[in-house]
Amino acid sequence: MPLRFFNTYSRQIENFEPRDATGRKVDIYTCGPTVYSRAHIGNFRAYVFEDLLQRHLELRGYKVHRVMNITDVDDKTIRSARESGIPLTESTAQFKEAFFEDIETLRIKPADEFPAATNQRYIDKMIEMIAILISRGLAYQAEDKSVYFRINKFPGYGKLAHFDLTQLQSTGRVKHDEYDKEHIGDFALWKAWDEEDGDVGWESPWGRGRPGWHIECSAMATALLGDEIDIHCGGVDNIFPHHEAEIAQTEGVTGKKFVRFWLHCAHLLVDGQKMSKSLGNFYTLPNLLEKGYTGREIRYALMRVHYRAPLNFTWDGMNEARESLGRIDDWLVRLRETADEEKKLVGTAQRATPTSEFEEALDDDLNISAALGFLFESIRETNRAIDRNELDAAAANAWLEWWQRANSVLTIEEEAGPPPPEVAELAEARTQARLAKDFPKSDELRDKLNALGWEARDTKDGQKITRRAGA
Ligand code: AMP
Ligand code: ZN
Repeated sequence: MPLRFFNTYSRQIENFEPRDATGRKVDIYTCGPTVYSRAHIGNFRAYVFEDLLQRHLELRGYKVHRVMNITDVDDKTIRSARESGIPLTESTAQFKEAFFEDIETLRIKPADEFPAATNQRYIDKMIEMIAILISRGLAYQAEDKSVYFRINKFPGYGKLAHFDLTQLQSTGRVKHDEYDKEHIGDFALWKAWDEEDGDVGWESPWGRGRPGWHIECSAMATALLGDEIDIHCGGVDNIFPHHEAEIAQTEGVTGKKFVRFWLHCAHLLVDGQKMSKSLGNFYTLPNLLEKGYTGREIRYALMRVHYRAPLNFTWDGMNEARESLGRIDDWLVRLRETADEEKKLVGTAQRATPTSEFEEALDDDLNISAALGFLFESIRETNRAIDRNELDAAAANAWLEWWQRANSVLTIEEEAGPPPPEVAELAEARTQARLAKDFPKSDELRDKLNALGWEARDTKDGQKITRRAGA
């Protein structure tokens, strides 16, 4: 079965065909963070979903070229800098840095390019695109000196969002003095400078001002990926007006179909509401790290539900993620032990060899629930087989090889590293106690290790120390 994705544009599952079907090159544009504050884990649900998409395409042999923009000038970034009393570039630099730290913690593969909207190269491109749109009657300068996109002149406007133009409401991302616009749905391409902008602004044929948020993405996407791209992603809140506007602007300039596949993830919710800065119901990554959760636990918690299903953030969910990872860790320890030992096979175990169910589930619109279902079912069965001495070293190795592939997408394996010194000391003391046949002491030390979240296992090669499941 070919790869297939739900395309927001058609509202249908479609077989995935990139433009470059033979070269297997896939271009992806993903809307990145607006750097006016530290991103919250709702934002990271979107970025983890995009990471899963990229990694699965790579597992399937595609060569992905991904661009993620950084929105470093818009109403929010300007307000945030003004409120902190520092220049815009200084304000956005700290949140950019925090963003890069956070994606590393979550093991998100960095995009190939992270263009920033304020780069003069892209500002020039935005101005060039706006000038073309004006020359074609698709944009106009209003009395307030701002330039707006004339949505009634673009026939396909509303197609992505499946929107009736008569229902258009003000979006909050446009200037408030809407009487200057011909239609309430017309959106700003270029915002004329006003006092609140301070020293932020660029010269343009329409006077000093700054770009609207939507044109930033159209310019950066086409500058780096060309007029047509394979996949464009974001959260569902990006569908309208942001992505609708991107289509209108880009296709208004190029006359070509901008994007083949539009993929949007559902929101991370808190008590049924979107996690967002404005509602104040958000957690940042450092908030969760302070509570003792690790990056891979947070990654797993954000990834384990299908991207098109809303995901409720709960502490129970975080703990379930921790338990699931503990089961995987334990399983890997057992598999490695089995792979090391030349076990005699007693019977024929079911699922003694892995199948391609995991990859096939992900081919099906990234069905992570089915993929993880297969993983945990396999863990149960192989564990049972190990208990009954029915899994031999070759089968254990086959599963370990399979895991390499699965983990190249999931990226949730615990990074091997030495245990902390206090754990190493307790482990050494326990080895000595066992050599001295002091079993009460050895049990006492095992409990101490347990309390620190570590497990001591006695194997024929001596004691092995691993993180305890669920710790
Ligand atoms: P922003 O910085 O607001 O432009 O958002 C960056 C990305 O995060 C966009 O793709 C949004 O759609 C996405 N996003 C924002 N809030 C959430 C949420 N609660 N759940 C999932 N994605 C979100
Ligand atoms: Zn965007």
